[in-house]
Amino acid sequence: MAKSLLQIAGLKVAYGGIQAVKGIDLDVHEGELIALIGANGAGKTTTLKAVTGTLPGSRVEGHVEYDGRPIKGLHSFQLVERGMAMVPEGRGVFTRMSIHENLLMGAYTRNDKAGIAADVDRWFDIFPRLKERAAQMAGTLSGGEQQMLAMARALMSHPKLLLLDEPSMGLAPIMVERIFEVIRDVASQGVTILLVEQNAKLALQAADRAYVMESGLVTMQGDAQQMLDDPRVKEAYLGEG
Ligand code: ATP
Repeated sequence: MAKSLLQIAGLKVAYGGIQAVKGIDLDVHEGELIALIGANGAGKTTTLKAVTGTLPGSRVEGHVEYDGRPIKGLHSFQLVERGMAMVPEGRGVFTRMSIHENLLMGAYTRNDKAGIAADVDRWFDIFPRLKERAAQMAGTLSGGEQQMLAMARALMSHPKLLLLDEPSMGLAPIMVERIFEVIRDVASQGVTILLVEQNAKLALQAADRAYVMESGLVTMQGDAQQMLDDPRVKEAYLGEG
């Protein structure tokens, strides 16, 4: 089996008196696309934030290892340097910078100018809307376009592991389709992905394995295709059965 790239063991997160994550284990192996699904408030975003160390005012317990080393206390930029990139919920593009500048910011850990320019061109080919608006402020883009830009920006760092939080949220169906095509493509190029999604069907269709979270706990895990056929998943998350 491929080696483990991200290992979460006994993770607990509390906000004041609220225990949002109650002790979960989760493994992501090199080359996998893992979906983390579950209802609103189940603790998915909190789990991602615990990995990226962006949880001010919370108490985090447990162990998180990335690429064989503990990552507790590392800043986001240090994680990016080690090959982990995150697209947060709500995208987080630099709204007052141009689209082109946003992409260049994503490559700040690199110094291969020609390679960076080639990657910008590649993303402009994949998302022609971004090319048309390259000089425009990112804040003027639609939600779907910002999602595309956020993904492209994260991938400009050439990450080994990409963390995606709700990429389909609030987007028109056609945009959601396009974003998922790109996610599949990126995965097929060997980037390991941990995908948090409320759209369980799309996430399970794209993923190799999946975890289901409910009220801060992992309540199911396994092969994504098998989960699509699981009556419990069908009833609770796919609106079937
Ligand atoms: P969503 O899809 O809505 O993002 P989620 O599964 O990602 O849901 P979380 O956002 O991780 O869930 O939230 C888990 C629990 O922690 C919820 O009860 C939420 O209200 C609570 N919570 C999240 N962030 C905070 C915070 N900053 N302060 C206090 N409670 C929080």
